[in-house]
Amino acid sequence: MPKANLHLHLTGAMRPSTLVELAAVHGLTVPPPLPMGEAHPWEAFQTRYDAARAAIRSAEDLHRVVTEAIEDNLADGCTWLEIQLDPTSYAPLLGGFEPVIETALDAMDGKPCGLVVASSWARPGEHATALARLAVRYTKVVGFGLSNDERRGSVPDFVEAFRITGEAGLISVPHGGFYEGAWHVKACVDQLKARRIGHGLTAMREARTVQHLADHQVALEVCPTSYPPLGVASYESLPIGDLLNAGVPVALGSDDPLLFGAGVAAQYVIAREVIGLSDKQLAAVATHSITSSAAPGDIKRNTVEAIETWCAKIH
Ligand SMILES: [Zn+2]
Repeated sequence: MPKANLHLHLTGAMRPSTLVELAAVHGLTVPPPLPMGEAHPWEAFQTRYDAARAAIRSAEDLHRVVTEAIEDNLADGCTWLEIQLDPTSYAPLLGGFEPVIETALDAMDGKPCGLVVASSWARPGEHATALARLAVRYTKVVGFGLSNDERRGSVPDFVEAFRITGEAGLISVPHGGFYEGAWHVKACVDQLKARRIGHGLTAMREARTVQHLADHQVALEVCPTSYPPLGVASYESLPIGDLLNAGVPVALGSDDPLLFGAGVAAQYVIAREVIGLSDKQLAAVATHSITSSAAPGDIKRNTVEAIETWCAKIH
C-alpha cells in the first residue's frame, strides 16, 4: 500500500549490516542486539543507539545512512519520507551543525523526502532555540521535532524554538505522551503548536485530550514495534482503531528499525495481523500519513489516489 513514513530517526534507520561495516572500519565494538520478546529499560536502547551514532564518523558515513534509509523506505512502498535528524552529536566530527544538515540534504536531493531537524527533551531549551534558528535557513527542512525521553524536559522551555520554526512554516512534530500522561500531549499541542505528535498514546487516558486532537486534526505517529520492547504497551492494547473512530488522524511510523527490527511496511503487517485493523482502517492510516505530511501537493494527491486504487483492487 502506498504510504508515507513520518517517524524515522536517522541513526535508528541504519541497516544492521551497515552498522557492522562502519563499526569495523572505525575499530568500534557494538553491543549485542537485545533479546526480542521481552521488555528492556530505556537505557538499554539508548546505549545501543549511542553506539550506532558513534559509528557515523564522517560526512560519507552520514550520506550513506541517509541514502540507504531512503532506498529501504521506497522499497517499503513509501511515496514520501521524513527523516528526523538531531545534528548535535555529529557536529563535532563533521565540523559544525551546518555540514551535518547539508550532508543529509545533499543525500535527499531529488528524492521524495523531507528533513526534520530535531533537538532533544534532554537538552536545554536554548539549545533547541539555536537549532531552530539554523533549521529555518534551509528551505528543504520541513519540520522541527524534539526526541528522546520527554520526562527529561519541560514543555515551556521549548516554546521559543517552536515559535521560530512555526513562523517560518516548518511543521511542529515533537515526541510526547510516551511516558508522561495525556496532559503532556495537550501541552505539546497548545504550547508547541504540534501538528503531529511522536507516539502520544497516553492521550487515550483522557477523553477531552482525544477530542482536542480530533478538533485540531493533530496526527499521532504511532510506531507499533517501539512499545512492547520498552514495556509501555502490548500490540493488542494499541488503541489505533479507537483513535480512528474518535476522528484522530493516525500515521504509522518505524521510529528506529535498527533497534526494534522492523521497517514501515512491517508496522502495517503488525497493524493488520496482530492489532486486527481492517483494510479500510489501514487505508485510512495510510491516507493520514500522507495528508499529515509536509509532502508537496502533487505527491499528496497522487498518493491519496493510489491508496484508493489499492483499496478498489483488493476488494
Ligand atoms: Zn521517535
